[in-house]
Amino acid sequence: MNKKGHVLNAILLAIGLGYVLQPSGDLETFRTIAELFVPLVLGALFPDVDTAFGKHRKTLHNLLVLGVILAYPIYFGNLQFVWIGVATHYLLDVVGSKRGIALFYPLSSTEYGLPVGVPTSSKWADTLTVVITLLELAALAAVQYFLVDLNTGTPREAVATALAGLPV
Ligand SMILES: [Zn+2]
Repeated sequence: MNKKGHVLNAILLAIGLGYVLQPSGDLETFRTIAELFVPLVLGALFPDVDTAFGKHRKTLHNLLVLGVILAYPIYFGNLQFVWIGVATHYLLDVVGSKRGIALFYPLSSTEYGLPVGVPTSSKWADTLTVVITLLELAALAAVQYFLVDLNTGTPREAVATALAGLPV
């Protein structure tokens, strides 16, 4: 996916996720969108820095890098939400283009992708980006409403009941 596709994906995802987390549609929703907007766009642009430094679709397109970005808010207390931008970048590269990414680099240089990908030059690239973004939002909304309250990390009642019933 090209830069335009990644930015489009991050902007739409920030807006949609703002409504998933704060569905009221009032100032709180817009505050959440603003909170997500810049970190998501920055995260979505970050992996392609490896076009200039390193091997493209390898050096900054792997699970190790995602893990490091995920650890930042925990360890340093900064870069919250940037990992969402990085994760959506990976997903878009895997699904939204013919070439995959080396998820396990530097352990392995094998690139993983879906053969259904649309070339970044295709006139359908933007449409596919929007479709992927909507699917991501549907998945996040399903998590928010049925599994875990993403605002607080609290499991939903059915999940809590199921977890309490586990023989551990
Ligand atoms: Zn990329």
